[in-house]
Amino acid sequence: METAKRNICESCGMPIRHLSQFGTHIDGSVNTEYCQYCYKHGAFTDPGITMEEKIKKNIAIARKMGISLEEAEIRAFSTIPRLKRWKKHMESVLNQAS
Ligand SMILES: [Zn+2]
Repeated sequence: METAKRNICESCGMPIRHLSQFGTHIDGSVNTEYCQYCYKHGAFTDPGITMEEKIKKNIAIARKMGISLEEAEIRAFSTIPRLKRWKKHMESVLNQAS
């Protein structure tokens, strides 16, 4: 059910509290999977970014928000690999390896 879904961005893990924070489809309608910083008008704002780069980016953002490096690293490494955008990426890496 839509209402039972946890509202976090499936790309960066940011909690989404308002409809205006969601990303948008190409027709301008709301995309409830991603935040407005990651996904706009039907496309990722950072196409081609690797999971490792996204983790680094998130740590940098958290550091700016006053979070300690250790805490920021724990959060990024425990959250991002589980998100939908990166799970697919991880599966394709694993499939290529086998
Ligand atoms: Zn996001």
